[in-house]
Amino acid sequence: MRRTLETVFASTVICIIVLAAAPVAAAQTPPKEAVNSDLVITHATIVTMDPQRRVIEDGVIAVNGDTIAFVGTPGEFLMSAPKGRNIGQTVDAKGALVLPGFINGHTHAAMTLLRGLHDDVTLDDWLRKYIFPAEAKNVTEDFVRWGTRLGAAEMIRSGVTTFADMYYFEDAVAEETKAAGMRGVLGETFIDFPAPDNKTNAAMLDYTEKFLRRWQNDPLIHAASAPHSIYTCSPKTLQDSAALARKYHAPILIHVAEMKKELDDSLKQNSLTPVQYLEKLGILGNDVIAAHCIFVDADDRKTLANRQVGCVHNPSSNMMLASGVAPVVEERAAGIAVGLGTDGPAGSNNDLDLMEEMDLAAKLQKITKMDPRALGAQAVVEMATIEGAKAVHLEKEIGSLETGKKADIILIGLDEPNAVPMYDVYAQLAYALKGGDVETVIIGGKVIMRDKKLLTINEPAVLAKAREYGKKVETSLK
Ligand SMILES: [Zn+2]
Repeated sequence: MRRTLETVFASTVICIIVLAAAPVAAAQTPPKEAVNSDLVITHATIVTMDPQRRVIEDGVIAVNGDTIAFVGTPGEFLMSAPKGRNIGQTVDAKGALVLPGFINGHTHAAMTLLRGLHDDVTLDDWLRKYIFPAEAKNVTEDFVRWGTRLGAAEMIRSGVTTFADMYYFEDAVAEETKAAGMRGVLGETFIDFPAPDNKTNAAMLDYTEKFLRRWQNDPLIHAASAPHSIYTCSPKTLQDSAALARKYHAPILIHVAEMKKELDDSLKQNSLTPVQYLEKLGILGNDVIAAHCIFVDADDRKTLANRQVGCVHNPSSNMMLASGVAPVVEERAAGIAVGLGTDGPAGSNNDLDLMEEMDLAAKLQKITKMDPRALGAQAVVEMATIEGAKAVHLEKEIGSLETGKKADIILIGLDEPNAVPMYDVYAQLAYALKGGDVETVIIGGKVIMRDKKLLTINEPAVLAKAREYGKKVETSLK
């Protein structure tokens, strides 16, 4: 269904203001009493994800600049500005669900260009035999730029407005993310072998420091440090990368307890679980975003909760690589914020559709526990929104539709065969609706996709370049 997005310049007036009687020159500057709204969404079924989990029928959201100024009913909206209101753009959301944008808490966006390269092997083999060599031969700054554009296009199409990324040339990832109008928590990777961008640990530290400095206070980009994991980073690399992040109050992204082998090796080498080992090294804290957290026992979960580490569950990846089943129910019960991620689109998913992860997260817990009540629809929608925001430590900014939060808003159409009838919004979101049902995406008050048309990315050019890179990668591995 196509939805009209009506642009009304300057002085559209909802309730009566004195503008009509004012002289022409005065009409260009609204009267002081009037309230400006740069963008207003009307007729929306708003799934707020606020602390009361309000669902507002026929609701209104008003946006000023990049911030939500109002969420409520049309009556409350009119009451909130008795002397008048000037509106920039209006989005009619009739027949759609309106949600906070989804948060992809763990991915490697540029790996879209390696999508489907050597699937159906173990994670250890996949990394060491295929992905690391393929990356060494192919990953350049240009590769990362095009891969990020492709990943951004795919994520926006399925309603993701914020993503947490770990890769190389992350400064280029940041530039492309900002150009796409997306919000990102973007971590430059530290790893104890020559990476495609930086060949030594000293170069990694130097690059990352410049990167963290450059993006400080950016409204969309949260630059971060990303030590890959305990099995690819020495204690010194882990500590140096974390100390650098902390110097700039930046987040730390890391893979934690993803593989049984990682647990076994850690127990053998350190007599500690991966979580205990990271705790001993002083890495864990309320700035850490830990991807996977599969092999974490009750003590580990207590440590993660006490340290306020955010965990990100990646069900597709964990199933695809047969890594294991994260104890999501127990983690949530321990008080850990657990978000959702797609992981990389190569070998471990292979797409970036977070709505699919909601569906799989619920079903994976149900089948593992042989209990359909284990993890429900509302819980997984929380994991994709407000809990995901907590997991990436941005809950003050994003994750729910509330006054004062950033205007990251998505409209999901309900006019397809898979969308009707609707008895329960959360069940519909988790189990029936798909990423392709997302119609309009607003990030920081800017419309990024309108009626399924991307406005910030030249999609045909990105698709053509991705095919070109596909051929190049294939040839390089022969
Ligand atoms: Zn990963």
